[in-house]
Amino acid sequence: MSAILTLNAGSSSIKFGLFDAATLVEEAGGQVERIGGAAELDLEIPGEPKVETRIPAADHHAAVTAIFAAIAPHMGARKLAGVGHRVVHGGPDHGAPLRLTPERIDELARLEPLAPLHQPHNLAAVRASMSAFPGTVQVACFDTAFHRGHPFTSDTYGLPRRFYEAGVRRYGFHGLSYDYIAGKLASDYPNLHAGRVVVAHLGNGASLCAMEGGKSVSSTMGFSALSGLCMGTRPGQLDAGVLLWMLDDQGMTSAEITQVLYKESGLKGLSGLTNDMRSLLASPAPEAAEAVDYFVLRVAEEVAAAAAAMGGLDGVVFTGGIGENAPPIRARVLERLGFLGFELDGAANDAGQGLITKGAIPALVIPTNEELVIARSVAAAL
Ligand code: ADP
Repeated sequence: MSAILTLNAGSSSIKFGLFDAATLVEEAGGQVERIGGAAELDLEIPGEPKVETRIPAADHHAAVTAIFAAIAPHMGARKLAGVGHRVVHGGPDHGAPLRLTPERIDELARLEPLAPLHQPHNLAAVRASMSAFPGTVQVACFDTAFHRGHPFTSDTYGLPRRFYEAGVRRYGFHGLSYDYIAGKLASDYPNLHAGRVVVAHLGNGASLCAMEGGKSVSSTMGFSALSGLCMGTRPGQLDAGVLLWMLDDQGMTSAEITQVLYKESGLKGLSGLTNDMRSLLASPAPEAAEAVDYFVLRVAEEVAAAAAAMGGLDGVVFTGGIGENAPPIRARVLERLGFLGFELDGAANDAGQGLITKGAIPALVIPTNEELVIARSVAAAL
């Protein structure tokens, strides 16, 4: 009898899940927030109220130790058989989860320049977990892996080929979420799974995946997690000339540009208010409405582009915090895509589960579960 722990680490937070290794039922979950500051651990046990505890967590190692102390009482007599980690970047070579060794962690650390705001924190949690649980199987699950089968034309930019060889590729992200949705389509909607589907992962980070026969053939995210759709604080699609203008005309440093692109743009920058879609939908400010309008337009434009990449479209799936919980956004995206045959079922859209259209071409809402994909990968490695 054993258990699997999943860790999903950001710069100052780590989300976690505890799964039974045999049944893959999630028995506990939660997160540590504000690592390095006034850290707090939120523990959620299904059917019980959430427990919030202030903890000392100066770094990722202390946070991992605190997570294990919090879940230990729920493990009973079981042993921790494996730990699965969300790692944002697997580079060009990793199209599957990877069992980790110190050498492989060093190899993944060489990809840090490709995802400077995510990869170092992911690997900090890996190292913390390796020292907290020596001898336990550790598995990296990559956000890029699901997209590694892209044809060359969906994997490259129109740059001189040497850049492609040097690793400047359209990697795509949110792969764990798309992997989960592909599995749900296979089990619950096999006809759609066999066809051409656009999956819209709309959260604070947002992207689309063009999926044919359950495999990714194109994604709106590329070399970094900045491109494609308008996001909470990231701009999405941006003419590279804007960066040259920022550098050469405005004299901005790369640190300043990084701050604008990752933290100050998107819904937050456009509205001047917040990156939170729920708040924007409730706001009377015209700038909030314009930010939402831009978000909707970009999703619709990119769904059509993804359909072109597949030579047609058999359905759309919405997932992620916005995709699962914001009926007005789904309604407006599908209204814009009415020319493709989408016909909203208003009541089903408000209910927000499964099929939300009436016409010949379906749109669905499917809640994602990235933690379960990580746990499955660990179980497979065991
Ligand atoms: P992350 O990419 O950080 O994991 P999430 O997938 O949790 O983000 O999505 C967060 C987004 O989902 C926020 O913009 C939030 O406002 C939005 N969201 C969550 N619930 C609702 C809701 N009921 N209505 C509108 N937007 C919502």
